[in-house]
Amino acid sequence: MNLSISKMISEDEIQTRVKALGEELTAKFKGKDLLAICVLKGSIVFYSDLIREIDTDLSCDFLGVSSYHGKTQSSGEVKLTLDLNTPIDGRHVLIVEDIVDTGLTMAYLQKSLLARSPASLSTVTLLHKPDAKKVECEIDYIGFEIPNDFVVGYGLDYQGLYRNLPYIGQVSNLN
Ligand code: 5GP
Repeated sequence: MNLSISKMISEDEIQTRVKALGEELTAKFKGKDLLAICVLKGSIVFYSDLIREIDTDLSCDFLGVSSYHGKTQSSGEVKLTLDLNTPIDGRHVLIVEDIVDTGLTMAYLQKSLLARSPASLSTVTLLHKPDAKKVECEIDYIGFEIPNDFVVGYGLDYQGLYRNLPYIGQVSNLN
């Protein structure tokens, strides 16, 4: 595919920020059992880097959600495509997201997981587009705030591609 992609956040900047987020999360969860939830598929790269920077007892689980259906605009409808393997009641839970755009997905995840009575529910996202917000949702940790542009790389795709770019790139020639 021939997209025109310009670098927005370099590999080094991402790694530095991920380390800092890991330190903050370690400070918060040290001495506790943490269940870190990877929101598939976009968070896979951020998640695998971030969990290695969190120094406490940590288990992993995975949730699948879809809201974009391969397009660049959110359909406004969030669907659970894969549920967790583990019950979360009484556990300290951290939702790890790649990007918060309209906030619909994060709001949906917070509501669904809070209904399962975790001991605590925290949220971290690598990227946040404050200008795209449609619904209120609280995010505890944010890697980078970015403009309302479509981005790919470091786990984020366009039609299934570009997840393997080591940096975040802005796409300039989408229809
Ligand atoms: P929201 O529900 O906040 O509108 O969107 C969340 C989901 O939309 C993200 O988890 C991600 O999959 C997708 N998304 C939002 N903005 C972008 C973007 O700029 N690039 C890519 N590749 N996906 C995005």
